[in-house]
Amino acid sequence: MIRPAVTTLAGAIRRAKKENRTVLTEIESKEVLARAGIPVTQAALATSATEAGKVAKEMGFPVVLKIVSPDITHKSDVGGVIVGLDSKKAVEEGYATILKAVRKKQPKARIEGVAVQKMAPEGTQVIVGMSKDPQFGPVMMFGLGGVLVEVLKDVSFRIVPLEKRDAAQMVREIKGYPVLEGARGKEPADVKAIEALILKLSAFAEANPQVEEIDLNPVFAYSDGVIAVDARIVIGDGG
Ligand code: ADP
Ligand code: MG
Repeated sequence: MIRPAVTTLAGAIRRAKKENRTVLTEIESKEVLARAGIPVTQAALATSATEAGKVAKEMGFPVVLKIVSPDITHKSDVGGVIVGLDSKKAVEEGYATILKAVRKKQPKARIEGVAVQKMAPEGTQVIVGMSKDPQFGPVMMFGLGGVLVEVLKDVSFRIVPLEKRDAAQMVREIKGYPVLEGARGKEPADVKAIEALILKLSAFAEANPQVEEIDLNPVFAYSDGVIAVDARIVIGDGG
């Protein structure tokens, strides 16, 4: 029932081009990144409430539901994300709730269905991204998740390719680094795992010049390991 992760980057790009889009869906992005060894929450497409319930049961509760649409990039802005669903019934209802909300907010959006994914336990939210600078080419970005990144622009950058030392510096350079060290009795985050994630994403960007942009927002960092719960890959028009 749960679709295995078989999408190669080339396959996802072919499909996107056929559909005239440059943004890979979250499911496609996660499948491609998982193949590159980047930890992501498993996500499967459901095209009906009943199917969503079945997939969720197979995956194990709690789950998160998210709208899958080539026309929607900020899913929670349109009521397209529900977290913490812990029964088949809640998932079936959640499916309907998401569709209703999205159709109301963005009536013209093409809807593929809903992604069912495992709910990751709460962690410290960080973001890792790659974008292309006209002068320097691919550049990696790192920051803490949420308000800190959006309002304070507390982020660090390095030009691809990165060496181990670059990743270590990037993480320590942000003002919010003490949060990762474990502020206010919070458990320290696994900084080594964050560095490894940055390096893997940098290597992926270097190996795949067709990729224009990558957003892992957010990544949950734990005392032991990290996992990206949202992912978005943008491909170039030409490549
Ligand atoms: P958006 O398109 O709005 O960025 P996200 O996929 O980032 O949507 O989901 C919004 C929020 O929901 C995330 O910031 C995160 O806090 C939470 N979330 C999303 N997916 C998961 C998951 N698999 N497990 C736990 N929390 C999640
Ligand atoms: Mg997100």
